[in-house]
Amino acid sequence: MSKVSFDISGKVAVITGGAGILCSTMSKHLAEYGAKIAVLDLFYDKAKEVADEIVAKGGDAIAVECDVLSKESIEKACETVMKKYGRVDILINGAGGNKKEATTSEEMKFFDIPKEALSWVLNLNFLGTVMPTQVFGKVMAEQGEGCVINISSMAAFTPLTKTISYSAAKAAVSNFTQWMAVHFAKEYSPKIRVNAIAPGFLLTQQNYYLLIDKETGQATPRGADVMRKTPMGRYGEPDELVGGVIYLASEAASFVTGIVLPIDGGFLAFAGV
Ligand code: NAD
Repeated sequence: MSKVSFDISGKVAVITGGAGILCSTMSKHLAEYGAKIAVLDLFYDKAKEVADEIVAKGGDAIAVECDVLSKESIEKACETVMKKYGRVDILINGAGGNKKEATTSEEMKFFDIPKEALSWVLNLNFLGTVMPTQVFGKVMAEQGEGCVINISSMAAFTPLTKTISYSAAKAAVSNFTQWMAVHFAKEYSPKIRVNAIAPGFLLTQQNYYLLIDKETGQATPRGADVMRKTPMGRYGEPDELVGGVIYLASEAASFVTGIVLPIDGGFLAFAGV
């Protein structure tokens, strides 16, 4: 009987949106477990801060400017990663998010939401996951192995109120996770696995205005609803996503592909009653 291995040391991990709140945390943790990190982000300076911090602590990382909505930019980033590390073992599709203009509110009724805001959110989350998988997944197909981890959301299982385009986009990300898992396994190699994590509620920039009243600093009615619907009764912390990511990226998950792993304090399990 061989020992289960969660070892990711020496693996090359490409993390899009790597300068953001959740993915900068993932980048730093994965580096501590010995992975080599390519921090990809639209904002090079922010990515460099993350990579510099990893290197200062003795880890191995580079910052790469990359727009996940431009094939040309992703291909250029891929060239930089290949030049530095020569392979890609893990792709974390972390770039994503919501915007106020694509969210219903007192000021923004469903009937008035601009098409541009709807497609901005759909494109960033869905195409921004598919397109890097086309580019870095091609490298994995050539290698005959690799692992893709997408970031879905609770909004993918049952849509959340207000976030119309974000819910639809994350449902598409979960659907794509299954599609891609099957496609890689059948067309290229069963050693290329595709999974997703679905974080529950974490207090970050993308949802702060919805959950915390900026005048009082207290929970909004929506924030209070989230607490009621989360059996653990608290928000998650970014580093609580790391264990799931390491599991999915390691040999411990060698027979796992096409799943969406909730990391949510029990949100999904609770009907609210
Ligand atoms: P964040 O806004 O802190 O980070 C997103 C990062 O993506 C930023 O650094 C941004 O510069 C980068 N980015 C934006 N557009 C880009 C583009 N076109 N190309 C490359 N990079 C781009 O967001 P976060 O809260 O850390 O969320 C990370 C992921 O987790 C997102 O997919 C988000 O939808 C998902 N998620 C977040 C929560 C939450 O509670 N925060 C819950 C579930 C899922």
